[in-house]
Amino acid sequence: MPQSFARFDNTYARELEGFYTPWQPAPAREPKLIYVNQPLALELSIDLTALGEAASNVFAGNTVPEGAEPIAQAYAGHQFGGFSPRLGDGRAVLLGEVLDRHGRRRDIALKGSGRTPYARNGDGKAAVGPMLREVLLGEAMHALGIPTTRALAVAASGEQVMREGALPGAVLTRVAASHIRVGTFEYFAARQEHDNLRRLADYTIRRHDPSLAQRPDRYAALLEAVVERQAGLIARWMNVGFIHGVMNTDNMALSGETIDFGPCAFLEAYDPATVFSSIDTHGRYAYGNQPSIGQWNLTRLAEALLPLLDTDVDKAVASATDILNTFPDRYFRHLLQGQRAKLGLERANEAEAEADSALAADWLSLLQAHKVDFTLGWRRLADAAAGEVGKLRSLFDEQAAPDMWLARWQARCADEDSASGLEPRAALAGRAARIRAASPFVIARNHRVEEALAAASVDGNLVPFERLLGALQQPFNESPELAPYAEPAPPAVTACYKTFCGT
Ligand code: AMP
Ligand code: MG
Repeated sequence: MPQSFARFDNTYARELEGFYTPWQPAPAREPKLIYVNQPLALELSIDLTALGEAASNVFAGNTVPEGAEPIAQAYAGHQFGGFSPRLGDGRAVLLGEVLDRHGRRRDIALKGSGRTPYARNGDGKAAVGPMLREVLLGEAMHALGIPTTRALAVAASGEQVMREGALPGAVLTRVAASHIRVGTFEYFAARQEHDNLRRLADYTIRRHDPSLAQRPDRYAALLEAVVERQAGLIARWMNVGFIHGVMNTDNMALSGETIDFGPCAFLEAYDPATVFSSIDTHGRYAYGNQPSIGQWNLTRLAEALLPLLDTDVDKAVASATDILNTFPDRYFRHLLQGQRAKLGLERANEAEAEADSALAADWLSLLQAHKVDFTLGWRRLADAAAGEVGKLRSLFDEQAAPDMWLARWQARCADEDSASGLEPRAALAGRAARIRAASPFVIARNHRVEEALAAASVDGNLVPFERLLGALQQPFNESPELAPYAEPAPPAVTACYKTFCGT
């Protein structure tokens, strides 16, 4: 039994009996480690060298590390708008919790480690491709500074899983601030188990918002804190062109981390109606719908919390409504903060909020009208700020198309610079640097992701995956070696690109 793995302290298992089913991961036939996240292991004080050969067994679920108490968590969820009262971890087990080097409590869970009592018709398994996809997208989000769950390891199982055809199987080890979902609250609310609802809310407050614990209005305050975190998270997604793809309430975490990377993908040419998920036929989770879906999901959370907000239903509803109504303003504040950074603006006056927001919105309309790549469109503003407009113009079908907008933006910048008293050249360089720190050069391009996963899954060749991962880990670095990863996919590829849930 590898003792060196990590020191577990499993509060969820200990304090929330009845919220899960104790469950052992199924052993994999022939486990082989194909990915380990060394920096994350270090953060968690996991000594991989000491683990040695045992690592593949631990990360495949064959050996349960000492101190772990594997459980499958119960939760419900609204999927594409319809309520499922019982979902739960169908193919995942939470091994337990550890305190990382910064003293933060992190869940360590396996995904793809066999059927659980919540599996319904699923086989409990996962395939190499989708699990490496979760690695790539999670590390990309992390490198972009966006709160996210992360992959610690992927072990190939040596087994075949049946999807459209037979695929090589794998188990992913996931690290998360917690796995408490909107759907976890919905589970107990739907069963009218109000004591359990309160236990869950108190637990969540202890874990994510301990400063609220003593407040008499702590459940309203929890809702408000979650609304604020989701507003910030979704604004960050929007500012990097991330489409989650399956924002069901069971895939929304109270911690405010991005969770459950299924059919997610990044925008190529800017179009708010962009949908890549094969199952999202009505575009419910299209890029541009994400903020309103966020609020819709939070409304489901608020409904679940109603019994805790007030014994008087009308008062509870009024309190929840007031909090939910703050979502749009919070979202726009976060969005504008990110957009100002992407425009290279430092001055953040309330009086200019509307004008700056319109400046950003008009930029986006221009990108949309000319089918310009979202990521490069923003990135090339840095070159324009430094006086080199050619690279930006060349993204447009008509070279002069951005000129009117650019003049407006430059006037706003000049105004800020003259007030700052900076020497003009220093002001330009500073602005270009700020834009380059806010708008990535490299994102997870769909064609690059597919190419890397196909090589890994079909040929067992991990080199393209490793190279792509290396590029995604330095998204703001514009070096010549990274240039191939920054190139948009041919529009014909994007037009028929489909992502799958990977179940
Ligand atoms: P997801 O679409 O990944 O968010 O999953 C929705 C629900 O389906 C969750 O309850 C999962 O645990 C369950 N699920 C997804 N894939 C499988 C599978 N292959 N076997 C069992 N359960 C699954
Ligand atoms: Mg899920």
